[in-house]
Amino acid sequence: MTQFTSRAVRIDQNGGPEELKIVDVPVGEPGPGEIRIRHKAIGLNFIDVYQRSGLYPFPMPLQLGMEASGVVDAVGDGVTHLQVGDRAAYASNPPGSYSELRVMPAKCVCKLPDAISFETGAAMMLKGLTAQYLLKKARPVEGLEPGDHVLFHAAAGGVGLIACQWAKALGLQLIGTAGTDAKCQLVLANGAAHAINYNTQDFAARVKDITGGKGVKVVYDSVGKDTWDKSLECLRPFGLMASFGNASGAVPPFAPGMLGAKGSLYVTRQTLFTHIATREATQAMADDLFAVVLSGQVKIHIDQRYPLAEVQQAHRSLEARQTTGCTILTL
Ligand code: NDP
Repeated sequence: MTQFTSRAVRIDQNGGPEELKIVDVPVGEPGPGEIRIRHKAIGLNFIDVYQRSGLYPFPMPLQLGMEASGVVDAVGDGVTHLQVGDRAAYASNPPGSYSELRVMPAKCVCKLPDAISFETGAAMMLKGLTAQYLLKKARPVEGLEPGDHVLFHAAAGGVGLIACQWAKALGLQLIGTAGTDAKCQLVLANGAAHAINYNTQDFAARVKDITGGKGVKVVYDSVGKDTWDKSLECLRPFGLMASFGNASGAVPPFAPGMLGAKGSLYVTRQTLFTHIATREATQAMADDLFAVVLSGQVKIHIDQRYPLAEVQQAHRSLEARQTTGCTILTL
């Protein structure tokens, strides 16, 4: 059996960016249902920070990374949708994309259309599929119609800028929050109807103003601890709190009774990996994402690029809220 070696980023224990170590790892042949892929570019995501810090626990050592693009290098038994030489991209569970070469389950890997570059493919899969399910599947019971207001936190980030553009394409009035005035300008330039600097303004009061006191049908909240309470104030009766991240820390436990008092609200906490549990579901969502990118309605902004060897700095920038749009690691 051929043994290859790959540079990879690994942690041996949870901690800060200094725990990210470049190591050489052996890479074998793909087993049944697996492929080996030679990466061209790697996507950086906030979930990588949670896994590194320990907020999302994993056994150690852990090779990080949930998103990449590359060329299929070998195909295991039973894999029919990919062939050696195919251009491909993925959002994966388990992690391991911070590497030159890896073996992984084929079911989460999709062929990348020729018109989409490897860098764009690496940047957009996890974030774009997340925007897809948030806007199209995590729906309020009353439905979402063109013209409806929704609130999207951290709208200048990776998932955020995709969501701004996609929401506009769907006719939604997206109110985006961001941490600086410059980020708010970016949010507006990407299709948001309104932008709020939540570090200098009371976003709940602004949402009430914008919606004529009614509130929004959905709040998409990936910030977590810092925005949770005020986000609930932004919802109209029967509105949906779609919590999907914890950039500021985990949401503290709450008593369900308060949802009734605030207007019979709904709360959901979803993860992309439930949505892409099967090959068919992954492909259907990816086709939708590819179509909206190829149509030009959603542009993937790669605002930061770091060589793999500078992964520690990439994590520092993401955590320090210095990034906008997507970040990739280059090989
Ligand atoms: P982003 O590029 O959006 O970066 C996170 C942003 O969160 C920052 O830029 C910052 O924007 C904002 N933020 C607010 N408070 C803090 C804080 N205390 N520390 C750091 N950042 C903060 O990351 P991603 O696009 O990779 O992911 C966006 C969010 O979506 C993450 O929370 C991620 O975990 C979540 N996610 C969830 C998925 C799911 O299925 N559940 C799948 C994919 C992503 P600003 O300065 O404007 O406040």
